[in-house]
Order: sequence, then structure tokens, then C-alpha cells
Amino acid sequence: MSVFEHGAFDQHEAVHFVRDQASGLTAIIAVHSTVLGPAMGGCRMWDYRSEDAALNDVLRLSRGMSYKNALADLPIGGGKAVILGDARRDKNPQMFQALGRAIESLNGQYVTAEDVGINEADMSIVASQTRYVSGLPKAQGENGLQCAGGDPSPKTALGIFYGIQASVRVALGRDDLDGVSIAVQGLGNVGMHLCRYLHAAGAKLRVADIHADAVSRAGAEFGAQAVAVDAILFEAVDVLAPCALGGILNHASIPKIQARVVAGGANNQLALDSDGRLLADRNILYAPDYVINAGGIINCAAEYLNSMSDAQVDEKLLAIGER
Ligand code: NAD
Repeated sequence: MSVFEHGAFDQHEAVHFVRDQASGLTAIIAVHSTVLGPAMGGCRMWDYRSEDAALNDVLRLSRGMSYKNALADLPIGGGKAVILGDARRDKNPQMFQALGRAIESLNGQYVTAEDVGINEADMSIVASQTRYVSGLPKAQGENGLQCAGGDPSPKTALGIFYGIQASVRVALGRDDLDGVSIAVQGLGNVGMHLCRYLHAAGAKLRVADIHADAVSRAGAEFGAQAVAVDAILFEAVDVLAPCALGGILNHASIPKIQARVVAGGANNQLALDSDGRLLADRNILYAPDYVINAGGIINCAAEYLNSMSDAQVDEKLLAIGER
């Protein structure tokens, strides 16, 4: 596996491979760009089918973070980490300590936070070994600025909600979401919070997740209709909100999408950059993932840089719709 010749390699500044035998940690940290500041982006834990799949993911995700952070006007660059393993089965505290030591050894080149499969408790263990971490359990400093912003996913979901409102305004000519039908793929940290906002705004929800307990919860709390995992992308709805993993918008799926708007939180939704053209040709409005899902990193940057109050973070989230 050659990194420099990999299809997803985009002149990344550095790619670090981490192995800690004692805890079983295998991870890759990719620093795409530090031009605007320290490379910041979450850590994902996923049961990749191969090392190459993990490398592909971290290279693409870290590039996306450079775009996301620049477009959100944040003084930070783009990076990402992936842990190879099943988040429900393979976690142990020593693994996150080892990850923390690896991040500390980079001297601030990369700053981590939560992504798929990772929670606040994991980040707290990372923080026992390094200061280059955000998304820590919420606490407020005396000056009213955030000294810890908590799990970023509620802010990510709120930014996506503003982005969906803006997309619906443009594509459907509607100023509210009352009765608008929305299919949400993935009911994890982001998808579930998004459902809460959408339900409160009167949207009619259809949902799918590979975990049945999450689907039942969304049904009970938001009246969401359950849809099969392999059908959710193709529902006859106004809006499709992908909130699981990337690569779901591709040459096979795009011809079958019935929604007028695709606007959701998942990173790397387009399998290939050229798939954006396929969506445009079908007159489907696509809200670029790295614009619409910036809420979490805005919150993490506020926390890490200790630079924004809650109110300033909310102002920045609102700007996502216009952007
Ligand atoms: P999560 O692990 O909490 O949730 C992901 C959910 O998707 C899980 O419930 C999982 O079971 C489900 N899922 C996986 N494959 C699926 C499939 N094929 N069909 C249906 N459901 C499936 O992760 P998260 O933090 O909610 O992140 C979701 C997406 O949003 C990811 O792409 C992530 O990179 C992106 N994102 C997250 C944040 C954040 O603040 N957490 C910020 C920006 C972007």
C-alpha cells in the first residue's frame, strides 16, 4: 500500500501510522493542511474491511476538514484520525491513552475530537495524555468563554438543520419545514439530534439505521416511520439527509434518488467529486457536506482556542444556511 500514490492522497502534509500492541490500538492520523492553523478534525472508530479502506477514509476525511474549516472561517487546518476496530466491541481505555500519547507526540500539529464511534468519555481518556483535544465534557470558564464544549454533535445537527431550512427555501420555495418529508439515514449522535430539530419544526420523518434500537427510539420520540436500510436513500421524500457514512452518492445511487434536496451530516457523501455533476444534472440540490456539517468543528474550535462564547458559536452556526 503506497500512501504517496494512493488515489485519495492530496499532498497531505503528514500521515502517521500508530500501533500500540499492549492495548490493540491500530490508528492512522492524517494531517492534510496546517496552512490556516493546527490541523483539527475528529477521530473515527470503524470496523474497516481493510487497511486500505481505512487509509482511503482518513485521507479523504482530512482533506474535507481543510475545506470545512476554511469555509467556516476558522483559524485551523484540516486533519483526521481513524481507529481500526468495532466501536461497540473493541474499545478499551488503554487504547485511548495510547492514542493520546501519539497525538501529544505531534506537538499540536493535529487536534482531535469525536467522530463516528467515539464519545465524550473516550475523549476524556485521550485528554489524560494530551492537551491537543476538544469535545470534552461541558464546562464553562469564568470569562463566559467555553473551556470545554462537550460532544459536538448537537451543534453539528443544529447547523445541518439551518442548512436544510436554507436548501428547502431555495429548492422548494418554502420558508418552513411544516409537513416537509425528510428521510434520515443514520441515527447516531448527529442523526438523532437532527431528528429532534426537524420534528420540532413539523417535518415528517422517515428513518433507517443498522441498529434497530435507534430506529425504535426515533419512532417513539419523533413519530418517525421506519424504512429498510437499503431503501432509505430512494424514498419519495422532499429531502434526503444522509447522516451515516460517506460514499453513498454515486453513479449507482444517484439515478434512483427521488428527493429534490440532499442535505445531511455525513462526511464525504460524494463517492467521486464528479458525482456532484450527476446530482446537478438531475436538478437535485446538494448542500456540500463540508459546508453544512461544520457546526461541530465550529464548537470544537471555540473550545480549543477558547475564542468564542456560546452566543458567538450560535451566530456562526446560523451563517451555515446562507453559506
Ligand atoms: P455515530 O457513530 O454516532 O452514528 C452513525 C450512525 O449511522 C450509527 O447509528 C450507525 O449505526 C449508522 N449507520 C452506519 N451505517 C449505516 C447504514 N448503511 N445505514 C443506516 N445507518 C447506518 O456517528 P455521528 O457522530 O452521528 O456521525 C455521523 C456522520 O456525520 C459521519 O459521517 C460523521 O463523519 C459526520 N459528522 C459528524 C460530526 C459530529 O459532530 N459527530 C460532525 C461532522 C460530521
